Amino acid sequence: MYKSTRDNFKLVPSYEAIRLGMVPTGGLFVPKNIPTVDYQKLLDKNYQEIAIEVIKLYLPEFEEKEIAQMVNAAYKTFTTPEIVSYHDINEKLTVLELFNGPTGAFKDIALQLLPHFIVKSNQKCGYLDNTAILVATSGDTGPAALAGFKNIEKTKIACLYPKNGVSYIQKKQMVTIDGNNTFSLGVDGNFDDCQTLVKNMFGNPDINEQFKALGYQLSSANSINWGRLLPQIIYYISTYIKLINSGKIKEGEMVNFVVPTGNFGNILSGWYAKQMGIPINKLISASNKNDVLVEFFNTGKYSKNREFHKTNSPSMDIVISSNLERFIYEAYGRDGQKISELFKQFDQTGQFTIKEDVLAKMGEVIYSNTANELEVLETINNIYKKHQYLIDPHTAVAFKVQEKYRAQSQDDCYTVIVSTATPFKFSETVTEAIEEKSFGIEALTKVEKISKKENIYIKNILTKKDSNLETTDIDKVVSYLLNFIKR
Ligand SMILES: *Cc1c(COP(=O)(O)O)cnc(C)c1O
Repeated sequence: MYKSTRDNFKLVPSYEAIRLGMVPTGGLFVPKNIPTVDYQKLLDKNYQEIAIEVIKLYLPEFEEKEIAQMVNAAYKTFTTPEIVSYHDINEKLTVLELFNGPTGAFKDIALQLLPHFIVKSNQKCGYLDNTAILVATSGDTGPAALAGFKNIEKTKIACLYPKNGVSYIQKKQMVTIDGNNTFSLGVDGNFDDCQTLVKNMFGNPDINEQFKALGYQLSSANSINWGRLLPQIIYYISTYIKLINSGKIKEGEMVNFVVPTGNFGNILSGWYAKQMGIPINKLISASNKNDVLVEFFNTGKYSKNREFHKTNSPSMDIVISSNLERFIYEAYGRDGQKISELFKQFDQTGQFTIKEDVLAKMGEVIYSNTANELEVLETINNIYKKHQYLIDPHTAVAFKVQEKYRAQSQDDCYTVIVSTATPFKFSETVTEAIEEKSFGIEALTKVEKISKKENIYIKNILTKKDSNLETTDIDKVVSYLLNFIKR
């Protein structure tokens, strides 16, 4: 069963938590009990088999056969049969590559599976309406959500992006999407405008009624849905198993994971893996100039009264980190009343500060630091020169923060850098780091030359037809979306 982080909602089964996405009265769903996993029993299993074992523990109302079907359907689009891949840097450091899905970012791992969870959850709730997924994106979520929901029965998906605020490749991924149920719309505004609009639509009873009259229930695919965290737990567990099987670590040996962090979803999944019994020492949270988490983990103050910075690791450009609420809840010993108070204060004043002993407890697990834009460029260049390995700007943030952690601590645990995007997706910044900045197709071609590799998904979209080039003013978005649902 799943409960609210604010103790303000009834216990619900897993399929209800997934269908609802967030707690209707405020707060986020968390599992009532975090299950444990015996990794020693999983040593001979492949990624998909491990996925089935882990998902079973969290979705007990789903039959094993159903879970297997969902997992196999979700991951057949990946370019590697192992789903995730590894690149060793030295005998104590490896890179976990999470970008082998159709849009070249780690979000594919969750968003290829979530649509199947949602369709099955609706069925189990006895829920007959269709689902209209609305997503506001600053770049990576939109393409991954469109790719995940493409041609999924009983769903339509519409994605709003800031018309001038996403990269060349990200935009290409959205305007060339060709599902029978997909729609993307460029909005004359910034990401915040898009996100506010979507939030207001969810909260507006009239608009909900208009969609309902067409047979659609509004829903979101954003990173606070439990169904997005769950698929991410799997690769922390499968990586630990892989390290044992390849002789890099001994059974029971502690490892660190370094995670480029925005909304705190990816790293939180790592924390769940640790709670389940995977020997994880430190989870290292790497931020860019948007440092809300660095301030929080170093001082205990969580504040949204801060500037938004556009950086060269744009998928981590955030003002607040929604999933942090789940972690604070756990660190406070699951005191929902307390969490409710803290977030009430947050809504009223834009900030709160947690107790010192709670902060100290968090510090035993989390280390948090930043890397700036120049450090990102230097790191891409250094890693390439030293190891002939090309990384994207988000992964570079993780590498740099890892170095800072090393310099400050005596910790010599085996360390895994979590790589969240392919360098091809951020070709412009990568060319800037290696030689001279290029743009668009030229940048992509250069990155192919430098790395002597290619990403077929990213290459293919360049030759695909632009079929969703519509753009509009903010005040016409709702009517565009209703027309999309009608057609
Ligand atoms: C979304 C994203 C992140 C941030 O992940 P969170 O789960 O929001 O912390 C990091 N890197 C890339 C490339 C992303 O797309």
